[in-house]
Amino acid sequence: MTEKIAIIPGSFDPITNGHLDIIERAAKVFDVLYVSVLANSSKQPLFDLDTRLALIKEVTAHIPQVRVESAQGLTVQYAASKGAVAIVRGLRAVSDFEYEMQIASMNRTLEEDVETFFVMTNSKYSFLSSSIVKEVAKYQGDISGLVPKAVEEAIQAKFR
Ligand code: ADP
Repeated sequence: MTEKIAIIPGSFDPITNGHLDIIERAAKVFDVLYVSVLANSSKQPLFDLDTRLALIKEVTAHIPQVRVESAQGLTVQYAASKGAVAIVRGLRAVSDFEYEMQIASMNRTLEEDVETFFVMTNSKYSFLSSSIVKEVAKYQGDISGLVPKAVEEAIQAKFR
């Protein structure tokens, strides 16, 4: 049987427990899962690319299906170049829906062989985002339970 390959693209600035939840659940379905950090985002990141990659590697080390890489250019072309059959995205609140729908339909137009799969977040993470975590940490709020320990330490070091 051929391996089912998927990619999970994102900024991961930094990876949160919400991301990790989606990755763990997608790993039950796909044989190989590329967690792909997009290098060409217009957002100014808190963590440089290498740090984001290193943190993801550390906190996904227990999931054998995961490969961590950076990616450039169009996500759907990157997915096709990896032989991926799917792009996996997480859905939190209704607010994610419209944006994700736009991207998914554009990606389908560009590359009809790559499907987009949505994984609904665990309800305890539905209001969790990298931006919220950074905002809370900036003012010395407690972010334990929102991000893995290694990420918590990395963020605290930034705002100390
Ligand atoms: P992007 O800049 O592409 O939105 P993110 O790193 O913010 O990148 O998110 C990557 C993916 O993870 C997206 O599909 C996003 O919906 C999903 N995601 C982010 N936070 C959560 C969460 N708390 N629960 C589920 N999915 C999430």
